[in-house]
Amino acid sequence: MKVLLMSPPFTQLNSPYASLPFLQGSLKANGIDVSCLDLGIRISCRLFSSETPVQVLDFLRGKDDRLAEKVLSGAFLPDGKMLRTALDKNSAKMSDTDYAKYLCSLYLEDIFLDYNKICPDYELSRYGEKIALSLPSFEIIRKKIISGNDLISDMIEEELKSASIESFDIIALTVPFPGTLTGALKAAQFIRNNYPDKTIVLGGGYVNTELRSLTDPGIFDYADFICLDDGEIPMLRICSYAEGKIGHDGLVRTFYREGNKVVYTDNSHLKIGIIRGTPDYSGLEMDKYIPVYESVNPMMRLWSEKDTLKLRLAKGCYWHKCGFCDTSLPYIKDFAQESVDDIIKDITAMTGQTGLTRFHFVDEALPPALVIKLSLELLRRGIRITWWGNIRFDKAFTEDVCRLLKAAGCIAAVGGLESASDRTLKRMNKGVTVAEAVKVMRNFSSAGILVHAYMICGFPGETDRDLIDSAEALRQMFAAGILNSAYWHRFALSVHSPVYAHAEEYGLSVSGRNNPFANNGVAYSDSSGNDPDKFADGLKRSVYNWMLGICLDNDIRTWFGFPVPEPKAGKNFVKNILNSPSPLPGMNKRIVWLGKEIRLKGKITVIKGLNGDTEYELPQKIALWLKELAGKASVKNAEGVVLSDAEKSFPDNSGIKFTHFICNAVWDDLFDAGMLII
Ligand code: SF4
Repeated sequence: MKVLLMSPPFTQLNSPYASLPFLQGSLKANGIDVSCLDLGIRISCRLFSSETPVQVLDFLRGKDDRLAEKVLSGAFLPDGKMLRTALDKNSAKMSDTDYAKYLCSLYLEDIFLDYNKICPDYELSRYGEKIALSLPSFEIIRKKIISGNDLISDMIEEELKSASIESFDIIALTVPFPGTLTGALKAAQFIRNNYPDKTIVLGGGYVNTELRSLTDPGIFDYADFICLDDGEIPMLRICSYAEGKIGHDGLVRTFYREGNKVVYTDNSHLKIGIIRGTPDYSGLEMDKYIPVYESVNPMMRLWSEKDTLKLRLAKGCYWHKCGFCDTSLPYIKDFAQESVDDIIKDITAMTGQTGLTRFHFVDEALPPALVIKLSLELLRRGIRITWWGNIRFDKAFTEDVCRLLKAAGCIAAVGGLESASDRTLKRMNKGVTVAEAVKVMRNFSSAGILVHAYMICGFPGETDRDLIDSAEALRQMFAAGILNSAYWHRFALSVHSPVYAHAEEYGLSVSGRNNPFANNGVAYSDSSGNDPDKFADGLKRSVYNWMLGICLDNDIRTWFGFPVPEPKAGKNFVKNILNSPSPLPGMNKRIVWLGKEIRLKGKITVIKGLNGDTEYELPQKIALWLKELAGKASVKNAEGVVLSDAEKSFPDNSGIKFTHFICNAVWDDLFDAGMLII
């Protein structure tokens, strides 16, 4: 059985969409002959195939830096709407090459905007939320698929003609978000018309969130099966079905059509053992991907960097309680962690396969305890990678934990702050207070890790005052240098969320769902009568400026062209939180020594730390104890030592008590030298 996994136009320009390598690795481990095709990147390369764009692509991919000079001369790139939005070089504060790359990225956007005029159903690398979101009937999308060919449809067909479709039995298309549905179905239509014996399968994020209550059979004119949630088991069962080993009743989490009816076979209860796979990038044309830098903000640029591998440390979210989130769906509620050994095996195999060492951990929220364990293991084994991922602003990310993560290669943390008003956070059931979030941001940023915050505007019952408080606190976070970037989303009511399940408690009246085709975001009215949309422009403009490090002192009210309440949060709200004491670590916490060694030279104790040597004259017994402690606490030592054991081993008759010693300057200096308590 040969399977082709395909991603439609357009997911990302900079790297393959994660589901391709994930599913390829898993199916291979379970004996399936599988290949991958990213139609999106193939078509992007076609869109940018004339002379100037080709030179620009080579430059962005780092193949020819000489273009920077031409780009900066101003005569190379043609004028365009996006290019005209570029910041001037002084404000951008970038090197010549990076600034030229920024201009080139905007130029690619301009080219795509031109294509977009004739092919409006596609977006280059965004979610395309307008298209296909909560579509009541499939007939709306069918019209798009059959209504004349456009340039991108022609390109899809040309690419498929050369993709040896005839050599595969099953073609599985991922539909990660609404904007990819048209492209996926156009590809499916071509395959159905030209290779009618092939089995076509759809799956992915859009399917998982929008099509769970599908009753409209129309989509089965283009696909044989539609799978929900993790694709491994459903795909393995479809392979067995195609081989005639099982019937429809043996499928798992799969829709199909029988007569003119949609049938769903769940079988989730079956305990089907599968072999764990490692994400597999083979066959993906990594050199084709394009890093685009549409922002000068270093955190925002990280999202579009090339050569980043995707890996997941855990499925689901360890919190899975936020009111607005899809907490009733398995991708959030079913939390299961990988073992550190397996993660290390994945990392080693993936770096070996690709030669790349940058990872994006695509978890919904990285579980702190697992990240700590992984960081210790990476350091113990001397595995040098860089990585970033999504977090909750969980107080478990203490100052020392963040320093450990940094030492293990963490470069950025992306967190859902959602609101900087405690009243709203409580209503959201975020499980985090503003004060905790501020300290976590500080812990990451002081360790040298970039921080991004997602914000939500218009959560049910959020008053104008709450929103202004939130925006003011956000301003202070940027001003304090603990936040690098942020993005405001408009609240959307998902049928899979607790707010939908308890709409009345949140003061919402909800319009009916039960569309035969897609059901996810639903219309509602908020009894509070608040109108958050009027704030959208001011919120966007303020964050845009703060991300550039400008207008940080402007009164928050000046961003809105209408009177807004004075924020309750005082001018020093964030500063006061940062100055408040943090709890001391418990005696069960582990001491970790990242420094080199502690050496005794006669009466002198030399602490060879991360940033050089420091010498002290210490009582002999304490010097010996410190030397031994550094050995036991060394990150190379898997066992480690906890604070209470360190206290027990502290020399009795050294002239100073342990409790006094750890308030001493030497102990403080040890932290600068590389000691952590985690
Ligand atoms: S919003 Fe984030 S932290 Fe909250 S439940 Fe969803 S994934 Fe978890």
